[in-house]
Amino acid sequence: MDNFRIDKLDSDQETILNKLFMKVQVNLVEEVGQSAFKSWLSSLRLNKIDNNILYLSLPSSFLSDWVIPHYGNKIDTICKRVFVGIKKTKIVVNPKLKEKSNNLHDFVDLTNKSTFKYSSASSPLDPRFNFLNFVVGKSNEFAFAVAKKAAEVNKVSFNPLVLFGGVGLGKTHLMHAVAWDIKERTPERKVVYLSAEKFMYEFVKSLRQKDIMAFKEKFRSVDVLIIDDIQFIAGKESTQEEFFHTFNSLVDQKKQIIISGDRSPSDLEGVEERLRSRLSFGVVAELHKTDYELRARILKSKAIENKNVKVDNDIIEYLAKNITSNVRELEGAYRRLCAHVELVNRPLTLDTAKQILHDIFKANNKNVTIEEIQKRVSEYFNIKQSDMLSTRRARAVARPRQVAMYLSKICTTKSLPEIGKLFGGRDHTTVIHAVKKVESLYKTDISFSEHIKVLKRSLI
Ligand code: ADP
Ligand code: MG
Repeated sequence: MDNFRIDKLDSDQETILNKLFMKVQVNLVEEVGQSAFKSWLSSLRLNKIDNNILYLSLPSSFLSDWVIPHYGNKIDTICKRVFVGIKKTKIVVNPKLKEKSNNLHDFVDLTNKSTFKYSSASSPLDPRFNFLNFVVGKSNEFAFAVAKKAAEVNKVSFNPLVLFGGVGLGKTHLMHAVAWDIKERTPERKVVYLSAEKFMYEFVKSLRQKDIMAFKEKFRSVDVLIIDDIQFIAGKESTQEEFFHTFNSLVDQKKQIIISGDRSPSDLEGVEERLRSRLSFGVVAELHKTDYELRARILKSKAIENKNVKVDNDIIEYLAKNITSNVRELEGAYRRLCAHVELVNRPLTLDTAKQILHDIFKANNKNVTIEEIQKRVSEYFNIKQSDMLSTRRARAVARPRQVAMYLSKICTTKSLPEIGKLFGGRDHTTVIHAVKKVESLYKTDISFSEHIKVLKRSLI
């Protein structure tokens, strides 16, 4: 690792260094938080490695005067960890960086929405969501492999790529990873990532502003279109129609389309048949529920990244065994423990960990059924259990029904459509509405929130 100059590298070396530097950025985001990173560290660039010293640069002395005293030690520690073998890190001022742009810089600039130069249509990408940070196991190896393939090849070999699976299993992570990887390999390709909800919002906005041609142009001129959570366009006919035409136009131009959803294309209720069959046409990859072994490896990889806080293996194994619902919850539990360790500044025991995560374990362990929730809630509010399924709209039954739907959402692993079905065949949008209503009452109405707390305690 001596005497590398970033501007004199062959492409393999550059790729390796890019990846390592990206790892540094990911670690920095995790240590200092998104907003401090964006304000102070997003313009930090890798400059050169000379005589085992890693040189980083910032575009102004204003920035370096702040960054060096405040973040210098952190940056040095992280760089030494990532770029194994370097002696130290130096931060220099290089005003030319502002104008100069190479692949590395374009790539880095993606983290910042305002400098996302390729398209105003795209949502920002999370630098932590990359292929390096994605832990592969049996449940996600196919999805991972096809996502990597979609990023690697310039030529489109399957279209569309559909990733589907339950909440918190890594769909968004993989989609961001594809976007990052394409930007790194072929920065000239225009990649647009957004949720189906945002697509709909943009579409409606363009209709309102009578600017539909600009909308069409924006989405039909991309090289890679990545749409997250396609289930949101269920029931939205005109958005589906527009999406269908965008889809066809991109496929005709041999542009890559990547879609995610919470269930397989054929199960997407409320989506037109012609669109569903189009979606099934390419490669459809499912992200399955994780197994113990993968959960443990995900936590271990988090523990390696976060060396400041020590969480013992027995605790990690306990988490992996008991938090089975999804990776997001697993990560949340781990973060809660780290925050605790940092606050109290004492080593963590398994017993303390159990106490801290008491609520999560209960929710994961006791598999309460929706029928039990309906029974408990109707007893509590003194209504007939059959009213949970009935079409009566009177507040006295409708509100308890909404409460039961909300509790079903948070205490079980059932999906929104499954919950709707068990409440007298209601649509998933009704469940969403109920959950939102209860959440907002919970915040504003103290006596209501007390009822919910009591019910929740009785269930989990
Ligand atoms: P989804 O979009 O499927 O609901 P996300 O992609 O948002 O789920 O994942 C939820 C969280 O779990 C994210 O923080 C993500 O980084 C993490 N995660 C999921 N799967 C993995 C994995 N295999 N390796 C590492 N992190 C993962
Ligand atoms: Mg997601």
